[in-house]
Amino acid sequence: MNYKVPFVDYPAHYLKLKNEILRLLDDVLFTRADLILRDDVKEFETNISSFLGAKCAVGVNSCTDAMHLSLHAAGVEPGDEVITVDHTFVATVEAIIHCGAKPILVDITEDFNMDVEQLERAVSPRTKAIVPVHLNGRVCNMRRIMAIAKKYSLVVIEDAAQSLGAIYNGRKAGTFGLAGCFSFFPAKILGAAGDGGLICTNRKNFAEKIRLLRDHGRKGKNDIVFYGFNSRLDNIQAAILNLKLKDLPKWIERRRKVAAIYHNGLKDVNGIKLPPEPNNNQRYFDVFQNYVIRAKSRNALVKYLRNRSVETLISWPKPMHKHKRLNLQHFRLPMTERISKEVVSLPMNAEISNEQVEYVIEHIREFYAR
Ligand SMILES: *Cc1c(COP(=O)(O)O)cnc(C)c1O
Repeated sequence: MNYKVPFVDYPAHYLKLKNEILRLLDDVLFTRADLILRDDVKEFETNISSFLGAKCAVGVNSCTDAMHLSLHAAGVEPGDEVITVDHTFVATVEAIIHCGAKPILVDITEDFNMDVEQLERAVSPRTKAIVPVHLNGRVCNMRRIMAIAKKYSLVVIEDAAQSLGAIYNGRKAGTFGLAGCFSFFPAKILGAAGDGGLICTNRKNFAEKIRLLRDHGRKGKNDIVFYGFNSRLDNIQAAILNLKLKDLPKWIERRRKVAAIYHNGLKDVNGIKLPPEPNNNQRYFDVFQNYVIRAKSRNALVKYLRNRSVETLISWPKPMHKHKRLNLQHFRLPMTERISKEVVSLPMNAEISNEQVEYVIEHIREFYAR
């Protein structure tokens, strides 16, 4: 189906840089034939670490792997507990499970991020790590989370897949804990032409370990120092990401502008609850990976908009602990459950026009005025 207002618009995004991307593909694939762990990966790692304000960055093949490798490198192993939220993409929990550890899921607060009071209550003698998830482009309460981590000597690995460029108390998402993990899945704020991910860290030794883990534990030409993984960021993806990185600040500003238009157009509508308005203070600089509202009669609204050619997304209609085969049913998470019935993400991307945003606003107003 071709929507009048699609949730993300890949062709429009491609058109922005089409000529430069085609020239780049020819250069990388033909002129230089640079495919695996070549200069583009190194350059991208250098550029994005300076964007983030982190000492080191290591490209990997996804954020899922970024988290798995980070937890593994931090020493998370069978018998350990790792605290995270239920209201996240399943990848967060997968990374914990694949280290053999036990996920402990806590609830969220009104901002869709980890409830820090519950976090502290969930700490046990077996707790090894915390994985805060900065959802929708807003950083968690990292002041409290880092204080709790310090108090109980826990490792913090941040799932910053949705928050590249977001700021909390003057620092970028991903730079608070031992490692920050990012995704370049095409729908993310900085999207590759396929999968991609990254780990940033201020610890040189940790970055070095990740570099070995992503490439079969190979050091230098002939030395294999442990069993690793194959989780490299493709050179061609790094080249494309490097090109796009130049425009990232502009795209983030556009997302924040779109959020401001939604806010002004919807703030007086009865029946919906909006995320905080974008502001310019360095305490919370949100980047709006998603513009998520809480809506009365959510499913009817989604259908109403679909019939008017507006594509929305529900993340997530069924809380993770309700998927029986995942063995997480024992968690009691009332806020997560309530929110799963109310949330809907409105079209949000850097390509959407003001007219399209106004069109969405108009039909939401119409729905609640009936
Ligand atoms: C997208 C996403 C991931 C997974 O990223 P991949 O690069 O697809 O592995 C993990 N966590 C959150 C919160 C995400 O939104």
